[in-house]
Amino acid sequence: MAKASPARRSGGATRPSPRVKRCTACKRVKPLSAFWRRAACPDGRDRWCGDCRGGYFRNWCAAHRDAYNTRQRAYYRRNRARLRAYNREYQRRRRVRPGPVRHHDRAVTGA
Ligand SMILES: [Zn+2]
Repeated sequence: MAKASPARRSGGATRPSPRVKRCTACKRVKPLSAFWRRAACPDGRDRWCGDCRGGYFRNWCAAHRDAYNTRQRAYYRRNRARLRAYNREYQRRRRVRPGPVRHHDRAVTGA
């Protein structure tokens, strides 16, 4: 039951590098933006789409909450100086930034 893929409205030219990718978990083809960034992967994106990874991650956290918490805490303790500096910089930049506050609008791909 293959549905016709939604045609892109902008530009009729065929692009050399399609910015889509197939999720190895749900087997759906989704835009790259639907995949989490992952430096370890060859194209810099996770092999699972955000929906799959998010569901997995949430499950994992629920099942291993203690492990997750201790791991996060240990990580924070080890990198405290850097993380604090980063957060401070991040907050400062947000506050200073002129113009309307924009939400992170993630590309939500309908099923
Ligand atoms: Zn998926």
